[in-house]
Amino acid sequence: FDDRKNSFGPNIEIESDWTPFKAKIDAFMGQDTQWRAFPIVGGEKVETGHTHAVLSPYDHSESAGQIDWADTATVTKAIDLAEAAFPAWSARPATERADCLDKMADLMEENYAELMALCHREAGKTIQDSIDEVREAVDFCRYYAQQARSHFATATPYTDFLGQEKHATLNGRGVFTCISPWNFPLAIFTGQVVAALVVGNTVVAKPAEQTSLIAFRAIELMHQAGIPTDVLHLLPGDGATVGAPITSDKRIAGLAFTGSTGTAQLINRTLAARGVAPVPVIAETGGQNAMLVDSTSLPEQVVRDAVRSAFASAGQRCSALRVLFVQEDIANRVIPMIKGAMQEQSVGLPYLHSTDVGPVIDKKAQTMLLEHIEHMTKDAKLIAQAALPSFADKGTYVAPTAFEIASIDQLTDEKFGPILHVVRYKARDLDKIIDTINHSGFGLTLGVHSRNETTCARIASRARVGNLYINRDQVGAVVGVQPFGGQGLSGTGPKAGGPHYLQRFAIEQDL
Ligand code: NAP
Repeated sequence: FDDRKNSFGPNIEIESDWTPFKAKIDAFMGQDTQWRAFPIVGGEKVETGHTHAVLSPYDHSESAGQIDWADTATVTKAIDLAEAAFPAWSARPATERADCLDKMADLMEENYAELMALCHREAGKTIQDSIDEVREAVDFCRYYAQQARSHFATATPYTDFLGQEKHATLNGRGVFTCISPWNFPLAIFTGQVVAALVVGNTVVAKPAEQTSLIAFRAIELMHQAGIPTDVLHLLPGDGATVGAPITSDKRIAGLAFTGSTGTAQLINRTLAARGVAPVPVIAETGGQNAMLVDSTSLPEQVVRDAVRSAFASAGQRCSALRVLFVQEDIANRVIPMIKGAMQEQSVGLPYLHSTDVGPVIDKKAQTMLLEHIEHMTKDAKLIAQAALPSFADKGTYVAPTAFEIASIDQLTDEKFGPILHVVRYKARDLDKIIDTINHSGFGLTLGVHSRNETTCARIASRARVGNLYINRDQVGAVVGVQPFGGQGLSGTGPKAGGPHYLQRFAIEQDL
């Protein structure tokens, strides 16, 4: 079953006719291509002098370019302009705003080679992940354009038996702050921003500091697609310097955030401390995702799906599998097969066809993951560790690693990388395990492998998660097909890429 067949995105396939695509991407892969990025405020590239080099995660001696980070004056100016631009932008017909999103999708398809090269060089993404990144960003634009035309272009009449005439419209709320993570540097960044815009909000956008070059190109393309320059502003920089002021400003009318649970909690506190009217927050956050495998499942399928869910994108997906629960009756079959499959994982340069797993994003992430591996080596049984390439110490590589642990209680917080934990369980304990997963407070993805429909239904009704996947992998949600978002510590909803998402960016008004 290939979900991607449902995608609106560009038809780039690795298996067929890959050579002409690859040649175009390679044109951006040499050291002579260096990107230079800045805050973009009112359409102007602002040279702040706070210049940072962007080094490729797979080789720190290679630079992808340079970026100037925003300073306080730049942030204030962006919010001033966004506030002033709101009345005119929100008064434009939703269909016109939707047209800009479709144009943005076209432009990303036209520029896929540069965007994919940026995904390799700035984010260390593999070929497949870079294709998926562009596709998902395109999908968000086309899907939200379609949704806006259906739900925002005309007023909804209310039935009134007393003869009163009443209509409701969905309109923008004002200046929206969009704050995004580095792990989907184009897709999530674009998805948040275009959702806020198409509803009629103006936007100040802060990408993750690690992936600001990609965000810079995305904003350039959005302006080229017809989003007015006073409506949309890019503020690269770190959380403290840029994230904090675009959260604490009293004029912010709503905020879309994707990132860790801890940062979402901090943002909520900052917004509340403003002492003004509460505003909508759409927070998509972390997970402690499990897969439950019972004795009726097909071991080959389990291993294929578990390995992809845990190690694709070097485990740097919020949906990634962290804890695999295997019923003990088949554990002695499944665990050695996982070991075998992991030894086949090729860790290497992200832009090579042969690579399954690329580097992790930066030194901080690498250090945290290596510390966890060291800790687990003492407290758990190593199942397997994939081999690292000889050049691994040039970049930030972490070998995909699997441990067998006694209980999920050995894990505290999310370890965002290629580390899988396997727990054996007895059939009679299944409900207890689901309850333990629920009690963790996280509720993002859950995988189930079983050929017993009653078991699947029982798990589905008991588990409190946003996205449940049965007899398949649990990563790679497709816009409009598997709307994505969690519960509890994993997010507020509504689900991104789903039919209820845009409404949260809007205010309902009577006519
Ligand atoms: P993060 O550290 O929370 O950062 C996310 C964004 O918040 C970055 O742009 C960051 O800026 C910014 N930020 C940091 N401090 C801030 C502050 N005080 N005020 C405002 N903004 C602030 O998360 P990450 O490491 O980038 O991303 C990985 C996390 O995202 C994982 O937990 C993953 O599960 C989660 N995630 C969730 C989903 C989902 O859909 N549920 C999707 C993708 C990722 P700087 O980092 O630039 O300082």
